[in-house]
Amino acid sequence: MTAAEAGGAGGDARSAAPAARMAAIRARLESEQRVRRMRESDPPQETHSARVIFQGQALLNFGGNDYLGLTHEPRVSAAGVGAISRFGTGATGSRLLTGNKTVHTDLERALAGLKSTPRALVFPSGYQAAVTLLSTFAALYETPPPMLLDKLAHASLLDGARLSGGRVQRFKHNDVADLEKYLQRNAPARCVVAVESIYSMDGDAAPLAAIHAVCKRHGAILIIDDAHATGVLGAGGSGLTQAFAGDENVAILGTLSKALASQGGFIAGHDWAIEMLIQLGRGFLFSTGLNPAAAAAALAAVEQLPGLDRDRRQIAQHRERMLSVLPARRTTLSPGYPPAAAIVPVLVGEDGRALELSDCLRAEGLYVPAVRPPTVPPGTARLRISLSAVHTADDLTRLLEGLSRHGLTRE
Ligand code: PMP
Repeated sequence: MTAAEAGGAGGDARSAAPAARMAAIRARLESEQRVRRMRESDPPQETHSARVIFQGQALLNFGGNDYLGLTHEPRVSAAGVGAISRFGTGATGSRLLTGNKTVHTDLERALAGLKSTPRALVFPSGYQAAVTLLSTFAALYETPPPMLLDKLAHASLLDGARLSGGRVQRFKHNDVADLEKYLQRNAPARCVVAVESIYSMDGDAAPLAAIHAVCKRHGAILIIDDAHATGVLGAGGSGLTQAFAGDENVAILGTLSKALASQGGFIAGHDWAIEMLIQLGRGFLFSTGLNPAAAAAALAAVEQLPGLDRDRRQIAQHRERMLSVLPARRTTLSPGYPPAAAIVPVLVGEDGRALELSDCLRAEGLYVPAVRPPTVPPGTARLRISLSAVHTADDLTRLLEGLSRHGLTRE
């Protein structure tokens, strides 16, 4: 966060030493109730992620991204443990030096299969994958290409675009006509367009077919961040990018840290994109390879995806139940709104009110995080509900009762 994003540190603090400056920023964030806190969570006794324990208090967890509940699944954890025994606790070097293990290439083959692309490449985080992909386009051309991003695109896409040095332009959220205007204002065939398939703070879906058609018409590159759809949506949990995977000008981003129950990120795409990253991608070349245990756990999760249709239906049912009781003004989604992603925002508006509601629900045994600006646009503070296949119908009832007690559901 920059000082400007933090609300500014005040005149004196701007020229002060870093410690004084940070103290001033921190004080300001405290006074605006915007200070960020890390809470230590213990594993719950039931060893699945529908529960968290914060400071001894067991809470029903609606704030995690373990959409399929695989972080404690025995085959996934056994794969992680097995990889530590076989490869050690770290990759020991860049993938181009000593850090390239068979488990990396096995995982990359599996991810390319999942996404129906010729190749895939894994990174130590999804953030790193996104930043590396977008920023590396600069090395491909003599001058960095224009970067056109959806207004709500994830911070990692924005940071990568900024690092590329190309002009960053943001079109209206999910507005294909606005995207086309931006394409026409630039040399469209040089543009890189980046969107999410499912938006992380809104749970809504991009009109991918229309976005792809417009990019294709203008010869632009399209990057789709499929982080929140992978494992949850699409045939066999393959995400929402299947229809576009055969197009050479499409690259798909994903994370191993959500439904795939591990840590790391990946890019699935065609030869040129993967070669670009291996030859020119500084975030690939100058970083240690993905931890082998994380790679092995993710691989075990990918292998299970085709058999998890029931779990995906469970998420869809939870979501329909939630949407059936939320008034239209409380959410960006509507009942039956496809596709059935695991994220449901409950709009509150005012920052302080969102925090207050989150605290009250917490006191009642429900972990429902408040999300406030700058993560979401001003005036749209919200409770962000993450649904998981390991939530039971009773868990959902408890959540809905909690929301109802605070007047967030329909009368
Ligand atoms: N893209 C999106 C849409 C995300 O929501 C996230 C994680 N919040 C990332 C990328 C980054 O992934 P990771 O957590 O693996 O760094």
